[in-house]
Amino acid sequence: MHLHNLPRSPPSSSGNALFLVGQHVSRWKSSYYECELNTRVFDNRLLFRKNQRHRGAKKKCLGASVYCSSDVPNSSSLPSIQQLSDARVIYSVAPSMGHNQESHPESHFRVPAIVKALEEMKLTSKFRGSEVVELQHFEPATIDDIASVHARAYVSGLEKVMDQALEKGLIFIEGSGPTYATSTTYQESIVAAGAGLALVDSVVAASKINKDSPTGFALIRPPGHHAVPKGPMGFCIFGNVAIAARHAQHVHGLKRVFIIDFDVHHGNGTNDAFYDDPDVFFLSFHQDGSYPGTGKFDEVGAGDGEGTTLNLPLPGGSGDTAIRTLFDEVIVPCAQRFKPDIILVSAGYDGHVLDPLANLQYTTGTYYMLASSIKQLAQNLCGGRCVFFLEGGYNLKSLSYSVADTFRALLGDKSLASEFDNPNILYEEPTIKIKQAIQRIKHIHSL
Ligand SMILES: [Zn+2]
Repeated sequence: MHLHNLPRSPPSSSGNALFLVGQHVSRWKSSYYECELNTRVFDNRLLFRKNQRHRGAKKKCLGASVYCSSDVPNSSSLPSIQQLSDARVIYSVAPSMGHNQESHPESHFRVPAIVKALEEMKLTSKFRGSEVVELQHFEPATIDDIASVHARAYVSGLEKVMDQALEKGLIFIEGSGPTYATSTTYQESIVAAGAGLALVDSVVAASKINKDSPTGFALIRPPGHHAVPKGPMGFCIFGNVAIAARHAQHVHGLKRVFIIDFDVHHGNGTNDAFYDDPDVFFLSFHQDGSYPGTGKFDEVGAGDGEGTTLNLPLPGGSGDTAIRTLFDEVIVPCAQRFKPDIILVSAGYDGHVLDPLANLQYTTGTYYMLASSIKQLAQNLCGGRCVFFLEGGYNLKSLSYSVADTFRALLGDKSLASEFDNPNILYEEPTIKIKQAIQRIKHIHSL
């Protein structure tokens, strides 16, 4: 989410479980592409499943082993051994069609637009055969899963106000940025979080079959990286990536989790969830001064976790050159030093030059480079175990093209970014300021 004109209250004061009923006031003029909804595909088939997940792979197994259950590939929610073995990309889809507010940029058009682009660009299993697998069956996250990151009072409070939302149509959640909820928000949010957990299960299982695991991509919403432990924020309900990080640790014994957040906004919720945790490295680079105003250079973690949070605010106008430099000079050495067991990615596409909510100059090619480099990093450091989670991205065209080029990168295909990107709309990046920012963060973190 991600609106510049919202109050910048610190995350710690924003999360609570108080709910206000409010009238819908459209703050944003719709400038988004209309997208045909494919109700056949997005039938919310999982929406009304009982929130009782039986995951065959789910066993507590703390310790060094990264794989502790020989029955993972047989779980009904996972692809077959053959599918896991052949796949290069595994993705899940949770579009949350009922969680929507008219004219809101974080709309229910987003995920269908991406899926439509993947089909049109022949990047689905229909065209790619066994290289691409869509997870068809996955369970919603359980309350315990959500509560590994969020306060139980918040989780149960949200569930309780669903009746109220059904009556009123739309409610606003107090002190959250503002974040809205509809009558389906709770159920759809646990489905979205579950879609991410199933991908973690899949890539971990696959990494035991092949040397290199396929990469996961959770095409889900509502997004998660602003949601703080005590409540929602910035149109984010549950911290999907943070919940998946805890799941990787608790269920699969993957002790060290490296999270890269390339959304244009600071992932303050993820930041807060792991601020004092030495086993989860949170690395965010974002536009300086953008919502929610956190993520400064000196926010480096606390206590035992001091040094395992890295925040790099980038000057407005930063683009492809800045990101290539910071990947090589900051992300790679950081990850090499941390030695992760899995890499999770908060993949926001709102840094694109065409995105309406920010002022960076990433291109479709930038996202190809990021995906390709992150995949390589995961192959080098942690058996390829890597899952991307959709966060922001509000121009449906640049969002869907960029996710498609991300898929190409993960598949090892050539980028087709040049067919979409227009270099004539780019202006010179603020090179000196970028260099200073990168030098400063390298100094702070001894890179
Ligand atoms: Zn964002």
